[in-house]
Amino acid sequence: MFSFHATKFCNAFEGGAIVTNDEDLARTLRLMHNFGFAGYDTVVGLGINGKMNEASAAMGLTSLESLDEFIAVNRRNYEQYRRELAGVRGLRVLPFSDSERQNYQYVAVDVDAVECGISRDDVAAVCWAENVLVRRYFFPGCHRMEPYRSSRPVREQVLPVTERAAEQMLTLPTGTAVGPSEVAAVCELLRFVVHRGPEISAALRKQAFDFQTFTNADAAPALARERVLV
Ligand SMILES: *Cc1c(COP(=O)(O)O)cnc(C)c1O
Repeated sequence: MFSFHATKFCNAFEGGAIVTNDEDLARTLRLMHNFGFAGYDTVVGLGINGKMNEASAAMGLTSLESLDEFIAVNRRNYEQYRRELAGVRGLRVLPFSDSERQNYQYVAVDVDAVECGISRDDVAAVCWAENVLVRRYFFPGCHRMEPYRSSRPVREQVLPVTERAAEQMLTLPTGTAVGPSEVAAVCELLRFVVHRGPEISAALRKQAFDFQTFTNADAAPALARERVLV
């Protein structure tokens, strides 16, 4: 399945696509995305309104025209992040494999709290205070969200790799709205935060600061204005 949501590499505002090599499944899906209509007034099964509208289709086509440009920009940003964050202790920009084709959409950084002297959440909080909207992608894991959290409770550490990634990963701003000077500024901020990690961490604790409250739409601007962090 592919998502064509506005935040994605190929953007049609909303929507997505399912691909399959199963003819029967393909037929069923085509019927389903139009209410199950098999003819003018014949419904042969359950369906939804999953039709793509013209505006979305047009937007999607412009996305396709620009794919190479998007890849080039994402790649340039990724390579700059790799260069400028190389050697920052505890921060590791996840490498893309050269043996595969990439769109370089996500610049994902692993924040090792012990080595950095500051947790991923605190790094994220400082970034937000500086209007650098990094994201904790993907946090929390599905198994920690409703309805699964309640309906299928899991023991601690049942998915240790997922848990670790959800706790340490940060994705950095990229895409065509982000250029070399923005990447440089983000890297400078990250180097500063890690350099002063324990100090900033302690300052945040003193103010009983937590990222969840901070990203709350009402609280963030006020906190950023007060420059409570650094
Ligand atoms: C985009 C995305 C979704 C949501 O896709 P929609 O097309 O908005 O439903 C879900 N999970 C992941 C991992 C995604 O990247």
